[in-house]
Amino acid sequence: MSQRELVVLGTASQVPTRHRNHNGYLLRWDGEGLLFDPGEGTQRQMLQAGVTTTGITRIAVSHFHGDHCLGLPGVVQRINLDRVPHPVDAYYPASGQVFFDRLRHASVYHATADLRERPIAGPGPLEAPGAPFELSAVRLSHPVESFGYRLTEPDGVRLRPERLRELGLRGPLVGQLQRDGRVEVDGRTVLLAEVAETRPGQRFAFVMDTRLCDGVAELAEGVDLLAIEATFLEADAALAEEHGHLTAAQAARVAAEAGVRRLVLTHFSQRYPDLQAHRAEAEKHFDGEVVIAEDLARIPVPPRR
Ligand SMILES: [Zn+2]
Repeated sequence: MSQRELVVLGTASQVPTRHRNHNGYLLRWDGEGLLFDPGEGTQRQMLQAGVTTTGITRIAVSHFHGDHCLGLPGVVQRINLDRVPHPVDAYYPASGQVFFDRLRHASVYHATADLRERPIAGPGPLEAPGAPFELSAVRLSHPVESFGYRLTEPDGVRLRPERLRELGLRGPLVGQLQRDGRVEVDGRTVLLAEVAETRPGQRFAFVMDTRLCDGVAELAEGVDLLAIEATFLEADAALAEEHGHLTAAQAARVAAEAGVRRLVLTHFSQRYPDLQAHRAEAEKHFDGEVVIAEDLARIPVPPRR
């Protein structure tokens, strides 16, 4: 069984606290590792979490506020120091190219790695060479240009063992059926559709930072795991709207309407020392599992249906 999980590196918005690092998340998905929004201190949090730079295949930045990108210089230099042997694709809003340039070249180092810049000019599918999934960007609503990311595994086909048995299919005949879509057995033609069912691909979305907008719902639609900012509580909804953020209730309502399976709330304002109210507020609107993200937590993608 392949491993698919979200490794939480930090959960604080704006400023770190004694218990919460700046943002940072590594999504481990089979052989891929997508590092989202590396805030300050991400390199050390990776060490604490037991993940290495060789596990990073892509970096995705939602926007260029410091809590979402100030970890880039350290991570980029560490990728080079560690001589990561595979290419690393970096996605970020094209409007922030000047910031990416500065962060990438913040100080002197010996470049060894193949870091491929993939600035995002507008919403839509992203180039993701070698990925076993489709990656797309969706525009969000924040004081600076911000994109959310959605990862979609294509649907597959699963053979039903009891049907294979009933029809007396085994060994090389099964291989032939998978290859050709049909096979002759006991003088009868069996079609792949008779013994197979669709295996739905898994989906993940990363929604950070934004006020409520259509893009949030588009990203969340039908995902197995949703990592979403819940900077504020509903009592502070006016602040959320003004600063371009979500409340726990808003995030939970979107998740409920979108049919999300596991909801991960994160990016908390330092004004809330205790997050029980975030949980209570989310659970009022969302029946599925609510996870209040904690630094260094590992949150599995729910098992396939
Ligand atoms: Zn922001």
